Parts: sequence; structure tokens; C-alpha cells
Amino acid sequence: EAKSSGRNMFRFYEPAMNERIMERRQLEIDMRHALRRREFRLDFQPRYEAAGQHLVGAEALVRWHHPTKGLLPPDSFIQLAEETGLIIELSDWVMQEACMNALTWGDTMMVSVNLSSVEFQRNDLVERVAAALKITGLSPERLELEITESVMLEDAAAALITMNQLKALGVRLSMDDFGTGYSSLSYLRTYPFDGIKIDRSFISGLDHSQSSEAIVHAIVSMGHALSLTVTAEGIETVTQLGKLTELACDQAQGFYLGRPIASEPFKRVVSEHQAQATHRATAGR
Ligand code: C2E
Ligand code: MG
Ligand code: MG
Ligand code: MG
Repeated sequence: EAKSSGRNMFRFYEPAMNERIMERRQLEIDMRHALRRREFRLDFQPRYEAAGQHLVGAEALVRWHHPTKGLLPPDSFIQLAEETGLIIELSDWVMQEACMNALTWGDTMMVSVNLSSVEFQRNDLVERVAAALKITGLSPERLELEITESVMLEDAAAALITMNQLKALGVRLSMDDFGTGYSSLSYLRTYPFDGIKIDRSFISGLDHSQSSEAIVHAIVSMGHALSLTVTAEGIETVTQLGKLTELACDQAQGFYLGRPIASEPFKRVVSEHQAQATHRATAGR
């Protein structure tokens, strides 16, 4: 009885499984053409100084405008890109496109790019970052690389060497999704980070949970004690922004302040912001 129903269950799932494998294979084929066909785009999410709401830069977030599937978010294709090795070509494109955009935002605005742990498992990451800077001409201190804890988990010693070499190029390094890993704290002591980005899960708790507030407070204090720039991500409400300002968090990012938007509209956000800043400066005199 059990055996036959088990067999039936297997038959029931089999077509669905094949379908998934086929779909994956097709996606992989599509991805191989996507770069050449210019189907990847970058959105930019503004990043502000938490207190003054002064615009300090943007995080570049990749999207795939698939010809038949429509707009695909990074979570639906980054893993496949990592598994197939296409992440390298994709990330080269992301870095160059991000730097090129930053050049159009004036002289001081920062741009952040997310790196994959796969990029740390090869020996050409430093070279690739240097190439992106050289090709575009962006000053290294305007480029920030966001790294998650998985980088240190995979090969802690190699990651330290690579990160020191990246620092020597002059770029900034920040730890993304801070607080979600196992030993984020100890990494901050050892690795040459310039900043941390507090994971969105702690920020959403600020509206109603005392414990979230205590955790964010602790992260900010510890970050400042280590001379790190602390950024909060995923701010969705005015209450959250208020609390973060109170807690002396340095920078803020989130839907409440601005969603990720395409390159052209982001350029307009930058110029409007710059015009307002100029206006405030002259009015204040
Ligand atoms: P991440 O680096 O932690 O980026 C933040 C994610 O949170 C983005 O999702 C952003 O759209 C979303 N977000 C920002 N503010 C809010 C908010 O207020 N509320 C909510 N609910 N969400 C918010 P996205 O663009 O879907 O990216 C997801 C992840 O994909 C990123 O997480 C990053 O790990 C990865 N990713 C994106 N672009 C790249 C890339 O070029 N290369 C690599 N390797 N990974 C990338
Ligand atoms: Mg990020
Ligand atoms: Mg994050
Ligand atoms: Mg993430």
C-alpha cells in the first residue's frame, strides 16, 4: 500500500521536476545571450545621510529585462549566474555601468555595488575592480563594494588578503545584511571594513519592538566605536527614520526615502537634490 502510493507520488512529482530542470536550463541559455543583448539594467536606490536627509549616493541593483518573462529581480537569477560562472561577466558589467553612472552625478556622490562570494573564490577580483576603475576613470574612494558574511565563511584567510588588496586600491568596503549571519561581530575586528549596513529585518522591527530598538542601538554604538559608517537599509516608515536618527545612525536607505529607480530618473533625483542644496545655501546667507 505505502509502496504503491509512494510510487504514485513519485510519478506525480516527476513531470514538475523535469519542468523545473528544463526551465533552469533555458534560463541559463538565455542568460548567456542577455549581456550581449543588453537585457540587464541597473536600478539605483538613493542613500541619504540619516539626520539631514542629504543625498550621499546610491546602491546599484541589477535587474534582468527578460524578452518573454518580463522584469526579473536579482534573487531569481544571481544564484544561477554564480553556478554557471556567468556572474563574473555580469559583475564586470555591473561595476563598469555603476561607475559610469556615478561620473554623471557630480564629484562626490558614492556608488555601491554588491559582490558575490564566488568572485572572492577566484584570484582576479582585485584586477577586475581595478580595471573597472581604470576604464571608467571614477575615483576609487567613490566606489563602495558590499560584501556579505558568506565571503568570510568560505575562506577567511583568502578573504582577508583580497580585502586588504581592495582597500589598497582605495575603494570602500561594507558588510551587507549585517546581523543576519553567525559571527558578523568578530569579522568587524579582523577585516578592513569601512561600514556596515544593518539588515532590513532589524529596521522593520523598530515600529513595534523594543528588542529591535535595543539591537539597532547596540549595532550603531559598536559600529561607531570601530569608526565604521553605519547605514540602515529597508526604511519603510517615517517612524523608523525618526528612531534611526535618534539612535545616531549615519546613513539611511529604503522605500520610504526612495525606491530603486532606473539610471535616467535617478540622474534627475540627483540634479533636483543638488539644485535644492544650492537654493538652501543661498537662502541661508
Ligand atoms: P541587498 O544588497 O541587501 O539589497 C537590498 C534589497 O532590498 C534590494 O532588493 C532592494 O530593492 C530592497 N529594498 C530596499 N529598500 C527596501 C525597503 O524599504 N523595503 C523592502 N521590502 N525592500 C527594500 P533587490 O534589488 O531585489 O536585490 C536583492 C539582492 O540581490 C540584493 O540584496 C543583493 O544581495 C543582490 N544583488 C542585487 N544586485 C546585485 C548585483 O549586481 N550583483 C550581485 N552579486 N548581487 C546583487
Ligand atoms: Mg547591498
Ligand atoms: Mg542588504
Ligand atoms: Mg542581500
